[in-house]
Amino acid sequence: MRRPILYRAFAALSLTLGLPAAGPAVAETLVVYSARNEQLIKPVFDAYTRETGVEVRFTTGDAAVLIERLAAEGRNSPADVLMTVDAGELWNAADRGLLQPVKSVVLERNVPAHLRDPGRRWYGLSMRARTIFYSPQRVDPRTLDTYAALAGPAWKGRLCLRTSRKVYNQSLVAMMIAEQGESATEKIVRGWVGNLATDVFANDTQLLEAIAAGQCDVGIANTYYYGRIVKERPDFPVKPFWANQKAGGVHVNISGAGVTGHSRRAAAATRFLEWLSGPTAQSHFAAVNMEFPVNPAAPVDPVVKSWGTFQPSLINVAEAGRLQPAAVRLMDRAGYR
Ligand code: FE
Repeated sequence: MRRPILYRAFAALSLTLGLPAAGPAVAETLVVYSARNEQLIKPVFDAYTRETGVEVRFTTGDAAVLIERLAAEGRNSPADVLMTVDAGELWNAADRGLLQPVKSVVLERNVPAHLRDPGRRWYGLSMRARTIFYSPQRVDPRTLDTYAALAGPAWKGRLCLRTSRKVYNQSLVAMMIAEQGESATEKIVRGWVGNLATDVFANDTQLLEAIAAGQCDVGIANTYYYGRIVKERPDFPVKPFWANQKAGGVHVNISGAGVTGHSRRAAAATRFLEWLSGPTAQSHFAAVNMEFPVNPAAPVDPVVKSWGTFQPSLINVAEAGRLQPAAVRLMDRAGYR
């Protein structure tokens, strides 16, 4: 259909003046609810604004709180995108109907299948590995193998763990249930508790420091906490070990995002997620927190790269959400505080 000359003249004029052209409204602002810290998202969002002119406003907070807020706001929510640092939280949001499915060939190409929702409601944007760390002074890495093996008698009084209240451990145990079943996993978790060198820690950084200080010899932590320490102190006396390389792969989780159910700018929000999954944004998004890009085409931070490559578990991270309630009950039964 030919448009009237006058319309075309106006459209050309409004382009030069930067006015919105007639037709569908141009999204100039997106609102993100983010469980990822401001210092880890702002530089990336600013780059998006520079590149596209789209302003990204955001609110940061605990994922559970942001999810409750989304639910309470309902269709009046200003949010277009929910971003979290654990697949379990995205699974919860999707399970409560707070995210809408997004069909995008770009996202499907850029994000490996095990790091996104099979129902297309959320996509991983960076990958974090939760693996074994050890003291190279007191542990021969050849004696390390799987998460399960840390329940064995060789590690009596030598293991450090973070609290089971943290979602990262709930996801780890949920994924172990997915791989090995509940009773085998419960046996392992009981073994861990029996091997603890000291009380559970509030965070991964304290745990890594405890290994360095000689309070324990091995522990389980996310790689980026280690990365933050070694960036400052390259001679930090702790090393990562890639768990389960012959048994299903390292437990990985994601920082990821989905488009909110009531977003009125779903197309613009999808373009934003697509941009975040591209190689340039990916490198940046992963490197600011020393994580792994989900897009295999994106370069990895040199410090992260120095830890070597590993086989990740290929079980879909959605299982971390689905099995989290079972994991919480299991850890409770096993006396893991
Ligand atoms: Fe974290």
